Amino acid sequence: MKEKKSSKLFERAREVIPGGVNSPVRAFRAVGIDPLFIRRAKGSYVWDAEGRRYIDYIGSWGPMILGHAHPRILGAIRRALAGGTSFGLPTELEVRMAELIVSRMPAVEMVRMVNSGTEATMSAIRLARAFTGRDKIMKFEGCYHGHADSFLIKAGSGAATFGTPDSPGVTKGVATDTLNARFNDIDSVRKLIEAWGSEIAAIIVEPIVGNMGCIPPKPGFLEELRSLCTAEKILFIADEVMTGFRVAPGGAQQLYRFHPDLVTMGKIIGGGLPVGAYGGRREILEMVAPGGPVYQAGTLSGNPLAMAAGYEMLSILANRTVVYKKLERTSRALEDGLRETFKGVDLPLTLNRVGSMFTLFFTGGPVTDWESAKKSDVERYGVFFREMLKMVIILPPSQFEEAFVSASHSGDDIARPVRAARKALEAIADRSTLSSAPLQRP
Ligand code: PMP
Repeated sequence: MKEKKSSKLFERAREVIPGGVNSPVRAFRAVGIDPLFIRRAKGSYVWDAEGRRYIDYIGSWGPMILGHAHPRILGAIRRALAGGTSFGLPTELEVRMAELIVSRMPAVEMVRMVNSGTEATMSAIRLARAFTGRDKIMKFEGCYHGHADSFLIKAGSGAATFGTPDSPGVTKGVATDTLNARFNDIDSVRKLIEAWGSEIAAIIVEPIVGNMGCIPPKPGFLEELRSLCTAEKILFIADEVMTGFRVAPGGAQQLYRFHPDLVTMGKIIGGGLPVGAYGGRREILEMVAPGGPVYQAGTLSGNPLAMAAGYEMLSILANRTVVYKKLERTSRALEDGLRETFKGVDLPLTLNRVGSMFTLFFTGGPVTDWESAKKSDVERYGVFFREMLKMVIILPPSQFEEAFVSASHSGDDIARPVRAARKALEAIADRSTLSSAPLQRP
């Protein structure tokens, strides 16, 4: 039986891997079941250890904008593989990759490749501190920027799910250098600037939040952040690990027309291999070693397989705005279908969507920040997730993660979750015994 095989693997995994997984959200704890173990994936589908096929709305948490195992990306990896897997010396492909990113991202004049989004944000913060000569950073409650110490203060994503926003192991010193404002609330930013202005090196923000679930910026919010940063000589870091190359060819900065000083990237730029990057204004990036004094390095950074996959991915996206049009069409059809479904169901629900990223919150909303996101009924989300899974649709296993649509999702891949959602929501509405208690944060 299928569940047994995944469960058996999980049992073995728990013996030798902390919590049985290599990244917390994969353990499915927030939805109260054992995780699926995946054997393979193609297009919009993943197959579990038993060979059962699911329509996938996780998309590896972002990279799979074209769908899984895209033939052109696999081809590029195969070609690179024949030439060797790592040299620790520069390659032409790294230059072409940097040129391509610079040509796509309006705010990026120079870029350094790393191996994950976490490395990108961690390095960007170090650079911002060095450039400004200031220590503090400002972030937003519920935003997630990877697992570096400075960011694990009121963080979103897995940290939100587990209610452990301040991880043990993060020192008090680091915590006091991190200030938290409220997303979409420019007054909360102003207040912190009034108190700490001349000590703040950078404000880092997910321009469209993905890690409290999907939350778009209010009109003017990013522009106001930009002007405050300029006035106070604070660097503006746009964390585009999730949004970069997804919401538009040039990322959220192109969609919302704002101009950050530094940009962090990941996910899509690796084509599904482990890649991150940080870039931005030339005068800031020129401070990075070996040209400048800010040390940052990586044995596998710019790895030839990862660069080949990422370059192919960006080339496909750069030459085909049609991909973005298709993504918008498909995602809008899914949104329209789901909204139609809600009409017949007596439950407080809020659907947030920007392009191919969306979240169904189990709260009346509007959901505009962490305060409003955490009012969601996570028990109900868990039931919804499990019901959808039974109907072979895989959504993020947490209320506080967003779902991703890919260019390979077909009309049927959209119609089926809409039908399934109707059944799942009706099942929830019928269960009067379900707890409606909001998530309790310590
Ligand atoms: N920034 C954002 C906005 C993210 O969503 C994530 C991961 N989901 C990260 C940084 C960290 O990236 P990684 O998991 O590759 O370290």
